[in-house]
Amino acid sequence: MARRLASYVCGEWVEGKGSFVPLHNPTTEEFLAETSTEGVDFRACLEYARTRGNPSLRSLTFAQRGVLVGKLAKAIHEQREELIEISIASGGNTRGDAKFDIDGGTNTLAYYAKLGEKIGDRTFLLDGEPEQLSRNPRFVGRHIQTTLLGAAVHINAFNFPAWGFAEKAAVAILAGMPVISKPATSTSVLAHRIMEIVVEAGILPDGALQFICGGTGDLLDHLTCQDTLSFTGSGSTAELLRAGKAVIQNSVRANIEADSLNAAVLAPDVERESKTYDLFLIEVQREMTQKAGQKCTAVRRILVPEGMVEQVQEDLIQQIRTVKVGNPALKAVRMGPLATKRQQEDVTEGIERLRGVAEAIHGDGSRGDLVEVPDGVGYFVGPTLFRASQSDAPEIHGHEVFGPVQTILPYSGKPEDATRLVNLGAGGLVASLYTDKVDFAEPFVFGSAPFHGRLHIGSGKIADHSLGSGAVLPQMLHGGPGRAGGGEELAGLRGLSFYLQRTAVQGLKTLLEKFLPPE
Ligand code: NAP
Repeated sequence: MARRLASYVCGEWVEGKGSFVPLHNPTTEEFLAETSTEGVDFRACLEYARTRGNPSLRSLTFAQRGVLVGKLAKAIHEQREELIEISIASGGNTRGDAKFDIDGGTNTLAYYAKLGEKIGDRTFLLDGEPEQLSRNPRFVGRHIQTTLLGAAVHINAFNFPAWGFAEKAAVAILAGMPVISKPATSTSVLAHRIMEIVVEAGILPDGALQFICGGTGDLLDHLTCQDTLSFTGSGSTAELLRAGKAVIQNSVRANIEADSLNAAVLAPDVERESKTYDLFLIEVQREMTQKAGQKCTAVRRILVPEGMVEQVQEDLIQQIRTVKVGNPALKAVRMGPLATKRQQEDVTEGIERLRGVAEAIHGDGSRGDLVEVPDGVGYFVGPTLFRASQSDAPEIHGHEVFGPVQTILPYSGKPEDATRLVNLGAGGLVASLYTDKVDFAEPFVFGSAPFHGRLHIGSGKIADHSLGSGAVLPQMLHGGPGRAGGGEELAGLRGLSFYLQRTAVQGLKTLLEKFLPPE
């Protein structure tokens, strides 16, 4: 697999020059590939998207763009087996983790393809009903949404090279915007192969999709008010990008998806021998070990009523012990290594930080027992469960440890206390609640909604159908206020608005009706 990864810009594959970043298999530390974007003409790349990709996509209707997005889903899905293998080798993913990323991506593309069909043969959206603007009924106004004239720059995090690309590209292309997609360098082997598949399939018009495999050079310095910037990654990088000169001067639309200390709350009505309790255990454990905890939506804080802490601790540890950690290429293994050495170092440092305010009750931040992994090889950190000695310690609520690490926080069992602790995360992507009682659910939802992009209520009655709080579905909003970046993605039709300008058009009713017909 070892080779040089190229970028796809201005209609061709371009290999970088200068110093190359080496990419490794996180399980074996074997060298896989290297990449560089030195020498790439980023200004030309943006111009190519604006002048070639944008007019081609804009001239299509939503239904026609939906067909293209559907073809992307199909082309990627057809290579699913190969992509799963690449994901295991280059990202340290188990087969299940790999499917979560790849199938999540194709499902999102397929969803937006259907949405395009539903919107139909139109090139713009009408927003709301006509408004009468004076006493004279002939003076009216409408709101329309039209595609911007620039390019959509997508910068993704390392943890979802397939889904990250697909969930952003699906929405932008359906909205008529050409995409410049940049995966995180460390796990770009998978994103690169997906791009090869898409280019080989020849589905999209020229300039509709470009790919940057490495640093973005001066790309962001050339953004205008007709371009957009979508970023997923750490809060610290987000801060840098938001402060970019062009972003500020040209009021470039920027959507930021950043850190989140997602919480799961167990309500006191949930009995040990109940389906809701079992669901809580299963979902919380999955959030710890799926993708080795490297999910933006993973549960980091577990709120448990004081009287139930001993029991939950015992049951959760038992549940975590069922997860075999080791070589993710093996079917029996359910948790692999972290994606990079840097990640391993960051998580280890985060664990040390938690030690000051919490007691490690399972795991100690070391590799633990591994299945078929040679000693000392691979970027492993075993599942580590803490119990807080002080539930409102800022270290627990203020620092995201992006790995298989969770902390149990005892609370009084009252919804207002749960809400207060959950909201100490200062803005999150998702919070989950396990209860069957409206007396708890209602105040919790209204108390925590202002701090969250999504709330997941787990209940025994939906246990067989629940996808858990960690699954990001295209129908539902992804994003959150504050620490989570303040962004909004997906949510069906709502996600398109980021790429469309809303304009109020007012004038003579009969004239407007000629091109803005009542729906
Ligand atoms: P990161 O280090 O911030 O990198 C994210 C992306 O930004 C990468 O593609 C990276 O490229 C790029 N980047 C870094 N510096 C840049 C710069 N100066 N200019 C332009 N691009 C730059 O984050 P990460 O380590 O990949 O991801 C982990 C973090 O992402 C966690 O904190 C997690 O919470 C967050 N995350 C959030 C979500 C969400 O939806 N809210 C989803 C997943 C992850 P290089 O790789 O080339 O440096």
